[in-house]
Amino acid sequence: MHYPDSPTPGSYYNGHYVPTSAERTAYQAAHIDAWAKSIKYGYYGIYFFAATIFVGAVVNLYFIWERRRRLAHGSTTSLIVRKAAAFGRWVAYLRLPYAIDRWIAPLYTTGSLAQTMLLAFAFTFCTGWCFGITYWYRPAFWGSSPLGLRSEWLAMAMLPFLFVLAQKRNLIGTFTGTAYEKLQVLHQGVAGLHFYMSLVHTGAMAVRGAREQGLMQSSSYLTGWIALGPLVWLCVASLPVFRSKAYEGFWFLHLFAVIVYLTTLWYHVVDELNSNAYMYATFAVFAYGFTIRMGWLLYRNLTLHTAHIETSSTGALLLTVPTRMRWTPGQHVVLRFPGVRPLESHPFTMALPASSSEEEQQLRFMVLPRDGFTGALARKVVQAGGSTSQRVLIDGPFGESGLTFRAYDSALLLAGGTGIAHVLPIFTDLVAHMKSEQGSRSLCSRVELIWVVRTIGVAEWFIKDIQNAISGLSHQQVVVRIMVTTEENSGSKDGDSIDDVKDADGQEDATNDTSNFRVLNGRPDLASLVHSRSQEWSGRMAVSSCGPASFTSDVCNACANVELNILAGTAKCDELFLSSSLYSW
Ligand SMILES: Cc1cc2nc3c(=O)[nH]c(=O)nc-3n(C[C@H](O)[C@H](O)[C@H](O)COP(=O)(O)OP(=O)(O)OC[C@H]3O[C@@H](n4cnc5c(N)ncnc54)[C@H](O)[C@@H]3O)c2cc1C
Repeated sequence: MHYPDSPTPGSYYNGHYVPTSAERTAYQAAHIDAWAKSIKYGYYGIYFFAATIFVGAVVNLYFIWERRRRLAHGSTTSLIVRKAAAFGRWVAYLRLPYAIDRWIAPLYTTGSLAQTMLLAFAFTFCTGWCFGITYWYRPAFWGSSPLGLRSEWLAMAMLPFLFVLAQKRNLIGTFTGTAYEKLQVLHQGVAGLHFYMSLVHTGAMAVRGAREQGLMQSSSYLTGWIALGPLVWLCVASLPVFRSKAYEGFWFLHLFAVIVYLTTLWYHVVDELNSNAYMYATFAVFAYGFTIRMGWLLYRNLTLHTAHIETSSTGALLLTVPTRMRWTPGQHVVLRFPGVRPLESHPFTMALPASSSEEEQQLRFMVLPRDGFTGALARKVVQAGGSTSQRVLIDGPFGESGLTFRAYDSALLLAGGTGIAHVLPIFTDLVAHMKSEQGSRSLCSRVELIWVVRTIGVAEWFIKDIQNAISGLSHQQVVVRIMVTTEENSGSKDGDSIDDVKDADGQEDATNDTSNFRVLNGRPDLASLVHSRSQEWSGRMAVSSCGPASFTSDVCNACANVELNILAGTAKCDELFLSSSLYSW
């Protein structure tokens, strides 16, 4: 590649005086943001991340300590702490109503108000530093654009964190107690900010080039343009609309583009002030994530696992895998079936808790066949005559632990379809404690499980487990309602009757109903269900929700409203904690 010859210092080029190196250094020293000093903006970016993670870690530690203290001594929290928690939770739970979000979702995963506010603050932080200081360009030949330098260092500071946020096993998640699937929103948001800063950097440097010797005036211009290619690909191809069309294809191309991007970026920034440090940190994070993941995968599969797979009458796949692995309620694993699609791995949630014995455990999964891998697995089972056994590689367990529910006085557990896999182990754990079947302590004295299914057939596999779990417990202690939304397809199993729901909001009249297990026709009004329990139950209440996007969104916003009622003093419960899970990101 031929670059224009550098103009002679002390001469004129296209009417511009070209200073000597000493003149340029003296000029920059007399103005803000001298080239060498601009690295401070990278430090500002790091401080931003460090402060955010620190606050998240302190809040996480407080809640861990508070739950342990409560479980050990039954102690209560002060009014001021409860109000502060209610405010924090309102911000953390509130999200856009699904009716609006569904139009945005193809382009952007919105997350909660807290995540949106954090990203909006980060956007303002970057924009403020870049554009708020209006010294954007130096005169031609007097040095790099300060705007381009500020955005460059802010973009560099984001790079290692961007990779941490992408990993299944990552330290930010460990410190802040946040599951990797929830950090995905921040990974996508920080990626957007990195792209934004990179574009500002590119634009500013292009303006500088155009004023001097053109858009290809040196090798760093060439490497910069090249690095922009994979970055554009990474950001555009990752938009939810493309990602959801072919997730596995997206994943491989994403990984490939990441490697190309890091390689081209390396040539663009190498030896520029302290940019090597950011690159080494990024490589280290990348290598750490890869090594830890592979190490665990290897360790987990030293003993080979075999999955027994059968289809239910509704087409859902029911998987059973004997294992010695331990897990906690609400967690999931990532499964890879070498005999079906060896290059793909997919997350599925353990639908029952691990037993307390040291003996071999049964992992049980309920899988809804979709178009891709799950569809291929379903076809394999059908071809085998309705059931088959397949070797499976297990990675995990991942995700937040549902054991936290033991620290609450009551629990409302809401599941839509296969979302029961997330909620049922929490239910089983709490109910077992009520029957004193567990050595550990639980404060939960009241549990209500609402499982919404299209047809009763979907629920068949778990009905016996649920009925066994609640036997001997009263209606005051535990209530289970399976709500069947497609009446014409429903049929009863083992004599369970399907009753019509009389209430307008889809809930049966609890005052007339003393059975703690019922199958009903109808669709619950989740918002009024959450609201009414918060007005009936005293003490600390916990809600778990897992289901389709609209289901989770309704529950999150209903819980956010209860937080406002707690703040206003109009709720009966003192506290409401929500753990929601969505089978996508
Ligand atoms: C934490 C978690 C737990 C889950 N637990 C269960 C469960 O217990 N039962 C159940 O039926 N489903 C569960 N899912 C959903 C399940 O993983 C997807 O339905 C499955 O991966 C779809 O595969 P497919 O190739 O058939 O999908 P496709 O038909 O190709 O795509 C359907 C959807 O699944 C998404 N998807 C595809 N592959 C993946 C992947 N590897 N990771 C994440 N999303 C993907 C796509 O983006 C798309 O939105 C869970 C998902 C997550 C994130």
